[in-house]
Amino acid sequence: MPTLPTHARVVIIGGGIVGCSVAYHLTKLGWKDVILLERKQLTSGTTWHAAGLIAQLRATANMTKLAKYSQELYGSLEAETGVATGFKRVGSITLHSPMNALKKFIAPPPWRAPSASISKRSPPLLRSAPAIPHLNLDGVKGGVYLDKDGQGDPSNIALALAKGARQRGAIVQERVSVSNIAKKGRRITGVDWQGEDGTSGHITCDHIVNCAGMWGHQIGRMAGIIVPLHACEHFYIVSEPIAGLTQLPVLRVPDECAYYKEDAGKLMLGAFEPVSKPGAWPAFPPDFEFDQLPEDFDHFEPILEMAVNRMPMLADAGIHTFFNGPESFTPDDAYHLGLAPEMDNVWVAAGFNSVGIQSAGGAGMALASWMDTGEKPFDLGDVEIARMQPFQGNKTYLFERSKETLGLLYADHFPYRQKATARGIRRTPFHHHLLQNGAVMGELAGWERANWFAEPGQEREYQYTWKRQNWFDNAAREHRAIRENVGMYDMSSFGKIRVEGPDATAFLNRVCAAEMQVAPGKIVYTQFLNPTGGIEADVTVTRLSETAYLVVTPRRDTAQR
Ligand SMILES: Cc1cc2nc3c(=O)[nH]c(=O)nc-3n(C[C@H](O)[C@H](O)[C@H](O)COP(=O)(O)OP(=O)(O)OC[C@H]3O[C@@H](n4cnc5c(N)ncnc54)[C@H](O)[C@@H]3O)c2cc1C
Repeated sequence: MPTLPTHARVVIIGGGIVGCSVAYHLTKLGWKDVILLERKQLTSGTTWHAAGLIAQLRATANMTKLAKYSQELYGSLEAETGVATGFKRVGSITLHSPMNALKKFIAPPPWRAPSASISKRSPPLLRSAPAIPHLNLDGVKGGVYLDKDGQGDPSNIALALAKGARQRGAIVQERVSVSNIAKKGRRITGVDWQGEDGTSGHITCDHIVNCAGMWGHQIGRMAGIIVPLHACEHFYIVSEPIAGLTQLPVLRVPDECAYYKEDAGKLMLGAFEPVSKPGAWPAFPPDFEFDQLPEDFDHFEPILEMAVNRMPMLADAGIHTFFNGPESFTPDDAYHLGLAPEMDNVWVAAGFNSVGIQSAGGAGMALASWMDTGEKPFDLGDVEIARMQPFQGNKTYLFERSKETLGLLYADHFPYRQKATARGIRRTPFHHHLLQNGAVMGELAGWERANWFAEPGQEREYQYTWKRQNWFDNAAREHRAIRENVGMYDMSSFGKIRVEGPDATAFLNRVCAAEMQVAPGKIVYTQFLNPTGGIEADVTVTRLSETAYLVVTPRRDTAQR
């Protein structure tokens, strides 16, 4: 074991694809004294067994920007580092039976999928898409073809990133675990490490980055922060070689919870089943290295049955590999990135919800840029760790919620769709009163809130659709009642901040877009801005007196990801 330095500018914990990407991008920005510590071998956690699908289209423009960056980076990594990444732009096709979700997904600016459109004719794929032999198109109404989507070898992409980081001076050290993190107030001061050969030591550092994947929760606890994630079992099978099977675009059939990838003449079938299997705590044994979990054919069988109908060639092909590996999932299906709100120098890039390969390039780039300049490169609100609430670190909550989040990846993301699991965490004093009056509850940051009021005799449930939903007339009645009469809102779920002192006005004038020198009693609707003029929060501020204000801030709605 080489002797490790006693000081670093940053210690990155975890040598999966994400830690390697953070090291790669920090060194690219000129950072020196970068140390990455990996408890076993690089990629031996989750990265090594990923299916290697590298898609670009995500639910929002910023997330798409990050995934698109990954795809472009991986396309050039082999030439830069000499490591064969197996990256190929095979394209991808996503099939849907109802088309509304897809129309919504691809249509709106600012980002349009390259050469994507919806064919109205039969066969319902884009005519520019390569044909997939033996694909049964029964029931399919249309699809999207993205020609630049790709697939690659996840381990080798990670190793290429690690090589790029090493070439620029980073120390990437395997078989060394971080065993403790030293803190002073809101700052960490260093990490204790233990080598597998019995050596140990301490590195003082200016920053740490938690890239520990499914161990991210435990590393977070060591650092005094909460990283809400939980590992679930995640399945795919690989067929025996199929005669004549050559390169195919990646195929996704979200309605059947399935994806397909051709690899060296074999067909891989992966599943995002609606009710997944969370692992038990603690996540996995300390000696977990290139390991897998026991097969569970009964759990996979419903997906396989639909797949054999969709891809009849699977019926005759033997199964070469049944794979079950752990992957971490977060309460809202979005990964955790950025500066942990509890500390001033603890950063997080973890909880990748089965899209860590396609996300790692962009996430590493964005985090490195933020660490370098102190400012987010653009709005990262979809994934910023600060969106999480302390209660979301609760193990029972995470266990229950993660049953749902794996399946959500391929589910229809209907407008206003509410999570079904781990509900009832925070209730306001008016909860029962609202229910007695017909409230249909939704959830935001753990709060149960009356989203709409059912009429007597009306079913008290959302009926999700891409069109006008069943609560539309109820909401209109409520709106009219408040507009024309008097109403009362339960604002318990909103955040309240009291700003008080002789400098309160000057302070708020610095942070807010609007003028805060107003008469006591006046309410100002405004935004909190960051130094680059970006919006951090949308708030109402009431001036209570000469020296005191009450800020009321809504919580970010992450339910529609
Ligand atoms: C079956 C399956 C298929 C998948 N397919 C795809 C796909 O097609 N496309 C896609 O984008 N994603 C896919 N994923 C998801 C992807 O594999 C993960 O999101 C990604 O690998 C996460 O990378 P990571 O670096 O965060 O975690 P990991 O690879 O798990 O890395 C974390 C590392 O931290 C180390 N570590 C932990 N504790 C310590 C410590 N105390 N000290 C030092 N090191 C420590 C671990 O040993 C580990 O190596 C798939 C996942 C599974 C399970």
